[in-house]
Amino acid sequence: MARKFHKPQRMCIACRGKFTQSELVRLQCQDRQLVSYSHRGRSFYVCKECIDDERKTAKYLARACKSGELKKLMSQLREIIIDVR
Ligand SMILES: [Zn+2]
Repeated sequence: MARKFHKPQRMCIACRGKFTQSELVRLQCQDRQLVSYSHRGRSFYVCKECIDDERKTAKYLARACKSGELKKLMSQLREIIIDVR
């Protein structure tokens, strides 16, 4: 019987749940703008469930980006996930 490979898990910054990478969107902040991960620099993850929970997730994005522009961050997040999904 084949052994199942253990998939590495990452933590969602909003709910702190552990997920495999396919359940997460990898994000990054550049100049306080939310962008998809560019393979350089620091990144963080948000799970797909939290993406739909704007009221909860916006403040964590604000913290990660050191930005107070919650609405702007969430609209940037939505644009990123259109590309990902
Ligand atoms: Zn989450």
